[in-house]
Amino acid sequence: MPWNRPLIIGLLVMLLAMTWWRLQSDDGEIRRSRLMMGTVVEIVAGGEDSNKLESAVDAAFAEIARLDMLLSRHQEKSDVTRLSQSDRGSKVAVETAEVITLGLDVAQRSGGAFDLTLGQLKALWGFGLENPTVPDRNTLSAALSGIGPTALSLNGQQVTKQSPHLQVDLGGIAKGYAVDRAIAVLREHGVASAAVNAGGDMYLLGQRPERSWRIGIQHPRQKDTVLETVQVSDQAVVTSGDYERFFERDGIRYHHIFDPQNGLPARGCRSVTIIADSVVLGDALATAVFVLGPKAGLQLLTQYPKAEALIVAADGTLYNSPGWAQYRVAP
Ligand code: ADP
Ligand code: MG
Repeated sequence: MPWNRPLIIGLLVMLLAMTWWRLQSDDGEIRRSRLMMGTVVEIVAGGEDSNKLESAVDAAFAEIARLDMLLSRHQEKSDVTRLSQSDRGSKVAVETAEVITLGLDVAQRSGGAFDLTLGQLKALWGFGLENPTVPDRNTLSAALSGIGPTALSLNGQQVTKQSPHLQVDLGGIAKGYAVDRAIAVLREHGVASAAVNAGGDMYLLGQRPERSWRIGIQHPRQKDTVLETVQVSDQAVVTSGDYERFFERDGIRYHHIFDPQNGLPARGCRSVTIIADSVVLGDALATAVFVLGPKAGLQLLTQYPKAEALIVAADGTLYNSPGWAQYRVAP
C-alpha cells in the first residue's frame, strides 16, 4: 500500500511499543521488528548463541523482503505487477506459482469468497490513502466484471488471465506465505524456538524456554482486551479482522476484506482467528471465513480437518470449530 503519514506514524508507534516489549523478552531470546509488507513484522528467536540468532533473524527478514519483491502490488517489477499489466498472463516465479495454487484452491472450495482477482477493487477503495472513498455501485460492478476464481488459471509457472483488465491481489495470502518461508529459514539456521508475526499472521516454532507459546487473541472492539488465550507449538495462528484497516463514513465502518459478490466490505464477522499447520493456509482461510460469515465459514472448515477457528460474528456472538477447545487455555 502507498505510504501515507497516518499509517507511518501508526506503524512507528507500534514499533516503539514493540521496542519496549523487547526489553521485556526472556533471557536467551532476541526480538527484532521491521516495517515490511505494509505492516510491522516481528521475529522472536530463542537459543544459546546470540550471534547465531542474529544472523538467522537477519536471513529470515531478507527472505520476507525477497518475497515481497515477487508478491506485492506495489513493487514495480513484482510478478503480481507484471501479471496485472499483461494482457493474457505471464510466467511467474516458483514461489508465486505456489501462492497462486493454494489461493486458487481456497477460492474454489470457498465458492469464490476468497478471490485473488480483486486488485482493481482494492485500488478503487484506496485503503491506506489519505482520502479513502466509498465507490458507487456502478464503479464497483465495473471492477467486478470478468473477474473471479475461474478468470485466473495456472499451468506450472504460467499464469493465464481471462481478461486483460484483471488485476491480481495476493494481499489475503502473501504475508502468510512469507511468514512460512521466514520460519523455514530460521529452521535452516538451526533455530528451534521462534515466533514470526506479520501483523496478525503468526507462526510459533517449537517451545519457549520453560513454557509453551501462548497467544492472546485480541478483542475486536475492546483495545487491549484479550478475548481468549491459546497455547500452540509448530502451528500458525492467523487473525483477520475489521478493526485494523478501516475508515468510517456516516457512522458506517468500511474495512478491507471484500465480499466479491458486491465489492463491499464483508459484513458477517468482526474477526476470525485460524489455527493451522501453515500460515499461508491460515491466512487464506481467515480471509475466506471472514467473507463467508460464521455459519458458512465453519462449513468450509470441515474440508480442512486440521484447521480450527474462533469467529466473532458481526453481532458479537462467538463461534468456534469443534477442535478449537484443545488449544484454549485460561487467560
Ligand atoms: P490482513 O491483511 O489484515 O492480515 P487479510 O489476510 O484478511 O487481512 O487480508 C486482507 C487483504 O486481502 C486485503 O487488504 C486485500 O488485499 C485482500 N482481500 C480482500 N478481500 C479479499 C477476498 N475476498 N479474497 C481474497 N483476498 C482479499
Ligand atoms: Mg488473509
